[in-house]
Amino acid sequence: DRVDNPYDGAQVYVNPEWSANAAAEPGGDRIADEPTGVWLDRIAAIEGANGGMGLRDHLDAALEQKGSGEMVVQLVIYNLPGRDCSALASNGELGPTEIDRYKTEYIDPIAEILSDSKYADLRIVTTVEIDSLPNLVTNVSGRPTATENCDVMKANGNYQKGVGYALNRLGAVGNVYNYVDAGHHGWLGWDSNFGPSAEIFKTAATTEGATLDDVHGFIVNTANYSALKEENFKITDSVNGTSVRQSDWVDWNQYTDELSYAQAMRDKLVSLGFDQNLGMLIDTSRNGWGGADRPTGPGATTDVNTYVNGGRYDRRIHLGNWCNQSGAGLGERPQASPAAGIDAYVWMKPPGESDGSSKLIDNPDGKGFDRMCDPTYTGNERNGNSMSGALPDAPISGAWFSAQFQELMKNAYPPL
Ligand code: BGC
Repeated sequence: DRVDNPYDGAQVYVNPEWSANAAAEPGGDRIADEPTGVWLDRIAAIEGANGGMGLRDHLDAALEQKGSGEMVVQLVIYNLPGRDCSALASNGELGPTEIDRYKTEYIDPIAEILSDSKYADLRIVTTVEIDSLPNLVTNVSGRPTATENCDVMKANGNYQKGVGYALNRLGAVGNVYNYVDAGHHGWLGWDSNFGPSAEIFKTAATTEGATLDDVHGFIVNTANYSALKEENFKITDSVNGTSVRQSDWVDWNQYTDELSYAQAMRDKLVSLGFDQNLGMLIDTSRNGWGGADRPTGPGATTDVNTYVNGGRYDRRIHLGNWCNQSGAGLGERPQASPAAGIDAYVWMKPPGESDGSSKLIDNPDGKGFDRMCDPTYTGNERNGNSMSGALPDAPISGAWFSAQFQELMKNAYPPL
C-alpha cells in the first residue's frame, strides 16, 4: 500500500556518482551527501551508460543506504520520442515516431526491474517526462513561440501516448509513486497556458490504459531556476495604481513564484478529478538566488518596474531563460512536507550538471546545440528576445560543469 507522502519519515537516496563529483570539488563536501535525481535519460542508462551505474546498481545501493528505515529513490523518466521539442540542448535518442521503441526498449525494461520483489520495500518516486506535455500547448502553431518539432509531436500524439504508457506500466508497481512534470510558473503561470496544460495532463493520464489513480502527484520547476518564494512583492500589489502584473518582469503572469504556482496547480488538477491528496514536489536544486546581489527588501515605489526589479530574488534577465543561468544558487535543501500540498522540496536536477553546451559540441547522445546556452545569444520569442544569461564554456547537457557548481554554492540560499 502506498503512503500519502513517500518522503515523510524516509531518507532519500544519495546517488554515489553525483556525490563523488560534488565531493571532488573544493567545498563540495558541504552538500555531497544531499539526495539528487537519477536520470534515466537514454535506453543505455538502464544497464549503465558509458560504464556508469545502471538502474539495478542504483536500487541495490539504495537498499544498502536504507538499513532498517524507509528509503525514497528518485528516478527521472526522460526519453520520449522527439524529446525536448522546443529546444535543442536535450534532444534525445528517439526520433518523433519511435513510440514503440520507447515502450518496449525503455519503459518495459524499467517496469520489469522496478517490479522485482527485491525492491518492494523501497519507495520509488518516478518523475515522468520533464519538458514534454506543456510544449503541446505553448509551443505549437497559433503561438508566436511555435517550433516545427512541437507541431510534429502535437500532430502524432506520441508525448501523450508515451506519458500514458509510462504512468500505466510504472503505476502498476505497488511501491512506485508517479509524479508528472507540470512545468513552472514562468512557463505555465499565464491563464492561456495554465488551464490548457492541466487539461493535457489529464488527457495523457487517461491514455494508453493509464487512469488518474496512476498519478500520485506532480513536480514543478524541474531543472529550472524560478524562485521558490518572492517575498518582496505580491501579485496583488500595485504601484501608483499599476498592478505588478503589468511590470516587464511579471508580464501578466498570475504567479510570482513556484510555491504559489505549485499550490494553485494542485487545486486546479484536483478540480479536474485528480486525487484529493495529490502531492507536489518542487525542484529547489538551483533556485536559491543568494549571494551578494540578493535584495534585502522591496524595491522603491517610483514605478512598477523599479519596485519589482529592485525586490525580486530571481535575477534572470528574462523569466524564459533556462540554460546554465549566471548568478543562480542552490535553493532549499531537500526536505519533506515543507508547506501545504507539497510532499517535498527535492534536488531532481543534480546541481553541477550542465543544461546544454555554450557552443556546438559533437556527441553521440543526440544532444543538439541550443543558442539559449550561448552567452552571446540575443534571444528569441520564447525569452522576449533577451540575452540568454547563460554561463560561458559549458559542456553538453548532463555533463559535469565545475564552474557552474562553484557558482551555485557561492550563491546558495539558504547559504551553505
Ligand atoms: C540532460 C540529461 C541529464 C539531465 C540531468 C538533462 O538536461 O539532457 O542527459 O541526465 O539533464 O543532468
